[in-house]
Amino acid sequence: MADFTYDLGDDGVAIITWDLPGKSMNVLSLDGSALLSEMIDRALSDDAVKGIVLTSGKDSFAAGMDLNVLAGLRNSSDNPAQSIFDFTMNGHAMMRKIERAGMDPKTLRGGKPIVAALPGTALGIGLEIPLACHRIIAADDPKARIGLPEIMVGIFPGGGGTTRIVRKVGLMAASPHLLEGKTYAPDKARAAGLIDEVVPADQLLARAREWVLNATDADIVKPWDQKGYKMPGGTPYHPAGFMTFVGAAAMVHGRTMGVYPAAKALLSAAYEGALVPFDTALKIEARWFTKVLLNPSSSAMIRSLFVNKGALEKGANRPEAPDQSVRKVGVIGAGMMGAGIAYVAANAGIDVVLIDQKQDAADRGKSYSEGILDKGIQRRKVTEDKKEQVLGRITATTDYAALEGCDLVVEAVFEDPKIKADVTRAVEAATGPDCIFATNTSTLPISDLAKASARPEQFIGIHFFSPVDKMMLVEIIRGKETGDRAVAKALDFVRQIRKTPIVVNDARFFYANRCIIPYINEGIRMVGEGVAPALVENAAKLVGLPLGPLQLVDETSIDLGVKIAKATRAAMGDAYPDGAVDEVLFWLADQERMGRKSNAGFYAYDDAGKRQGLWDGLAVQYPTADEQPELSEVQHRLLFAQVLEAVRALEEGVLTDIREGDVGAILGWGFAPWSGGPFSWLDILGAERAVEICDDLAARHGPRFTAPDLLRDIASKSDTFYGRFTSADQAA
Ligand code: NAD
Repeated sequence: MADFTYDLGDDGVAIITWDLPGKSMNVLSLDGSALLSEMIDRALSDDAVKGIVLTSGKDSFAAGMDLNVLAGLRNSSDNPAQSIFDFTMNGHAMMRKIERAGMDPKTLRGGKPIVAALPGTALGIGLEIPLACHRIIAADDPKARIGLPEIMVGIFPGGGGTTRIVRKVGLMAASPHLLEGKTYAPDKARAAGLIDEVVPADQLLARAREWVLNATDADIVKPWDQKGYKMPGGTPYHPAGFMTFVGAAAMVHGRTMGVYPAAKALLSAAYEGALVPFDTALKIEARWFTKVLLNPSSSAMIRSLFVNKGALEKGANRPEAPDQSVRKVGVIGAGMMGAGIAYVAANAGIDVVLIDQKQDAADRGKSYSEGILDKGIQRRKVTEDKKEQVLGRITATTDYAALEGCDLVVEAVFEDPKIKADVTRAVEAATGPDCIFATNTSTLPISDLAKASARPEQFIGIHFFSPVDKMMLVEIIRGKETGDRAVAKALDFVRQIRKTPIVVNDARFFYANRCIIPYINEGIRMVGEGVAPALVENAAKLVGLPLGPLQLVDETSIDLGVKIAKATRAAMGDAYPDGAVDEVLFWLADQERMGRKSNAGFYAYDDAGKRQGLWDGLAVQYPTADEQPELSEVQHRLLFAQVLEAVRALEEGVLTDIREGDVGAILGWGFAPWSGGPFSWLDILGAERAVEICDDLAARHGPRFTAPDLLRDIASKSDTFYGRFTSADQAA
C-alpha cells in the first residue's frame, strides 16, 4: 500500500487521500513526497478533473515531516548541503505547482481549485502543504492541533511555511506561529488566519467538494501572486515594517539569548524574504533551512528532542516481557508528589487508590486533581464530563484494603527509610503476589529500601519530577535485585501517562539529581568566593540554562539543600568536598531564608511572593571581589559541573545509554536544550577541547574538574560520544 491514494469521482473532483499504512499519524517521507507530486501532475493534466481535494484517511491530517528523513539527508551524501537544499527546493516546486494549479502565469486564469480538507491535527509540513492549497477547511475537532511547531525541535518551517505565513498575516502576527511554534485548535487557527473554514466533521468532504466545484479563477490566486500585493504590516522598507523587525530581533535575542541558531535563521529568512519576490523568498528560506539543518546544535536538538525522545517513549530500552499496562494503581502518600501522580494516572484512564494517614490528607490530595481540572475547564481545555470521569477514578482513603487488585503501587511518603519500610510491608500484605512496588524517593538508594520488601525483584524506583503534571521526564531506577518485569511495568506505566522515561541503575542521587546538585553547588561556591551573584545567574542564562543555580536552589528550597548536604557529608565522611558550599548555604538557612517558600532566599521576594532582584544582604556577608572572572570561565564552571557528572554516571554504569543521558538532562532539569544534552554538547565542543578546559579548571579550582578517564580516552582517539556509544542508526 502507498502513502497516498487517488480517486476520481463522477463529479470531476479528484480526492487525494494521505493514509500511511500501519501508522496512526501521517508523516511525510521522501517516497510520499514524490508520490504526492505525481498525483498532482496527474490531476492537473487530466481534462476530466475539475478540482482536487487533498485529505487524510486518518482522524488527523499529518504530524509533519519525518525528521528521520532530515537526519538521514544530513548523513547520507558527500555533499549534505546540496542534498538538503535540493530536497527543500523540490518540495517548494511541488507546493508551487499546487499553488499555481496549472493556471496561465500571465492571466492567472485556468487553474484547478485545490482544497485541503483537514480531519484533525495538521502540524509542520502537514500545515505547509495545505498553506499552498487554495483553501483550508478543517473539521471542528477541539482536540486537533494546527500550527508550525518546528522551532521547538531546533529548526524552523522550511517547507514554504515561513514565507507563506509572513506574506499571509504579516511579520508581527506571524511571530507567535513561527517564533514560538504555537499550535491551535481549529477555531483558534481560523481566528488567527492560519486556516479558512471550520465545519462539522461529517460535512468535511462534502463542503470541500462544494468549494472546489464553485471556486472561480479569482478564488484560487494567492494574494502574493496578484499585482500590487502589499505585505500586511509592511515590508522592512516601510517605516512600520522596519520597526517590527527591530522589535522582533530584540525579542528573539531576549528569549533565546542568541544560542538558538534556528530562531536567528528564521528571522533572517523572514527579513530577507520580505524584500524580494515570492519565488526568490522561497529560495532564501531553503538556504537558511539548509544552514540550520547543518548546524550541529539543530542536528543535536532533532536527535535528542525528536528521534531519541521518540525512541525512548516507544520502549527502546524495555526488557522483553508481556504487556504490563497498569489497570489499577495505588499511590501511598497524598502530599505534593502523590497527589500529582494520582492525577496523571487517573487522567490517563487508570483507576487510582490514593492513601494517606488521615482521611482529610487523602481528600486534599484528591482535590489537587480537582484544582487542575477546574483550571482546564476555565481554559476550555477540559469538559465537566471529563472532570467527573477523572475524579471518579480516584478513591481517596486511609484503608490499605482498598489496594486489593492493584498491579502497581507507587509510594510517595516522607523521605524517611523507616517510614518507607513500614509502608512497603503494609502494601505487600494488602496486594497480590504479582503487584510491582515502586518508590518515588529522590535520594535514598533503591537497593537499600528494597531490603524491606519480601519481593525485591518486584521493587523499583519510579522518580517523578515536580510538578508531576508538567514535568515530562520520569527516571526509572533499577535496584540491584530489580527484575525485568518490574522495569517493563514501570515503562508501560510511563507510556500510559504519556511521559518520557529513562532507565538508570541505582547510585547516590541516580542520574538527574546527581548532575543538578553539582551545578547548584558550583553557583553557591562562586558566591562564597566573591563572584558577583548576578554574574553567576546571567552566565547560566546566557548559555541557555533556563534557571540560574541560585534561582534553582531558591525554587527547590534552601533547607532541602541543607538536608541533602548533611546526608551526603554523613555518607562520605572526610572525603566530602563541598564544605565551602555549605558555609554559604547553612548561613542562609541560619538567616531563615529558605528560598521561595519563605519569601526569602538568594533572591528577595515581595509580599505576594513575586521574585525581585538578588538579595542585597548577600553582598554584606560575601563581598564581591574587585576582580571578577570572565563570563566564559563562569559558564565553563557551571556547565562542566554538570556534564562531568553525566560522564561519570556513564563510566560507572548508572547510565547505560547516552541517549537517555541527553534526553533526561533536557527534560529533567532543562540542560541547555540548544546543545542536545551533555553528551551532545561535549561532542559539539570536541573531547580534546573539553579535556583542555578541564585541565585548566582543575588546576585552578580543584579536582572536581578532573577529566574522567573516559573523556580523556575519547579525546585521545579523536572520537565522539555518539560515535562510540550508539549504533549508526541510533546516532542519526
Ligand atoms: P510531602 O510531605 O508533600 O508528602 C508526603 C505525604 O506522605 C504526606 O501527605 C504525609 O501525610 C504522607 N505520609 C507520611 N507517612 C505516611 C504513611 N505511613 N502512610 C501514608 N501516608 C504517609 O512530600 P513530597 O514532596 O510529596 O515527597 C514525597 C516523596 O517524593 C519523598 O520521598 C520525596 O523525596 C520524593 N520526591 C519529592 C520531590 C519534590 O520535589 N518534592 C521530587 C521527587 C521525589
